[in-house]
Amino acid sequence: MQRPIYLDCHATTPLAPQVLAAMLPYFTEHFGNPASTHQYGWETEAAVKRSRQILAEAIHAAPEEIVFTSGATEANNLAIKGVAETYFSKGRHLITLQTEHSAILDPCRYLQTLGFEVTVLPVQPDGLLNLDTLEKAIRPDTILVSVMAANNEIGVLQPLSEIGAICRHHQVLFHTDAAQAIAKIPLDVQTMQIDLMSLTAHKVYGPKGIGALYVRRRDPRVQLAPQLHGGGHERGMRSGTLYTPQIVGFAEAVQLGLSELETEAKRQSKLRDRLWEQLRSLPDIYLNGHPTQRLPGNLNVSVEGVDGQALALGLQPLAAVSSGSACTSAQLEPSHVLTALGRSPALAHASLRFGIGRFNTLEEIERVAIGTIETIQSLRQRIL
Ligand SMILES: *Cc1c(COP(=O)(O)O)cnc(C)c1O
Repeated sequence: MQRPIYLDCHATTPLAPQVLAAMLPYFTEHFGNPASTHQYGWETEAAVKRSRQILAEAIHAAPEEIVFTSGATEANNLAIKGVAETYFSKGRHLITLQTEHSAILDPCRYLQTLGFEVTVLPVQPDGLLNLDTLEKAIRPDTILVSVMAANNEIGVLQPLSEIGAICRHHQVLFHTDAAQAIAKIPLDVQTMQIDLMSLTAHKVYGPKGIGALYVRRRDPRVQLAPQLHGGGHERGMRSGTLYTPQIVGFAEAVQLGLSELETEAKRQSKLRDRLWEQLRSLPDIYLNGHPTQRLPGNLNVSVEGVDGQALALGLQPLAAVSSGSACTSAQLEPSHVLTALGRSPALAHASLRFGIGRFNTLEEIERVAIGTIETIQSLRQRIL
């Protein structure tokens, strides 16, 4: 049986063959602990050093500013809790967005139970943060602003440079969750004035279980309380033996992504626009999120007059997509991102997220467009 067309690249991506090839020797032949002071350790230490350099350059940072973690969830936790724990004597107020990933919102909620105050800012109907809203929310006791680079549901790209400038002006640390953005859009921690940035490998054709936190070392020097104590790895900020194969794969994936960033952005946005052009021929179908300020491979739509769950189910044999119903079906709660845009619960449920990636073709997109239209039409007839 043929599997459905994979269009869920915001959830995860397949490992690129080149990435696997780069990783393999570090599972077997080069297995040493990078912290060991002998030949075996030196081999993997050199590989980690090269990888760190590649990742640092990818975001215009210094290698010493990269702290390896198990992924973006851990990087977000380290950034938010690490800053809160270090700077609480300066202030206990944090700012974030309603449309953030749960790996931001949940650590913030946890901090609230410890006595921190968190302002969760609304977004505009197009998903973008209003800069005046941000500026007004900053208080003398604000220690951190955390605003994501690219949204995992609607692909919306927040204005990082403008946010960075505001934070720097008010001397508040600026963290961004760039899990969806790395090697997809240009990122520069210098020009964007970013102090902390979370990264992950598995959304850019790298392995699962590896990520990093960028931690600014000067102007200002960011201090972080570690959340994992142990051998003092990663400048004391994250203990644990470095996972060399994953680190090598992470760097390879990012390097590959950067080498084709512009051509893939063009190609994927063409596919995305083609899909939307077809789908919008239907009446009462709405685009979620800003039409252009979004990830090239992202299309998120809401469909009037169909049941969310039936829509998700109807598409299953054709395409592996994510829906506003499926991802939280356990609780039957509509997507918090779509409701933050002002979508009704029904429209938030009846939504589809298409995550187009490197391996998708125009032929696949045409098939998915036709199949989606047919599914929606037949569901609407059933309701009538
Ligand atoms: C996937 C994702 C995460 C979680 O990353 P992991 O590496 O899977 O822990 C965090 N934030 C965003 C925006 C994501 O898309």
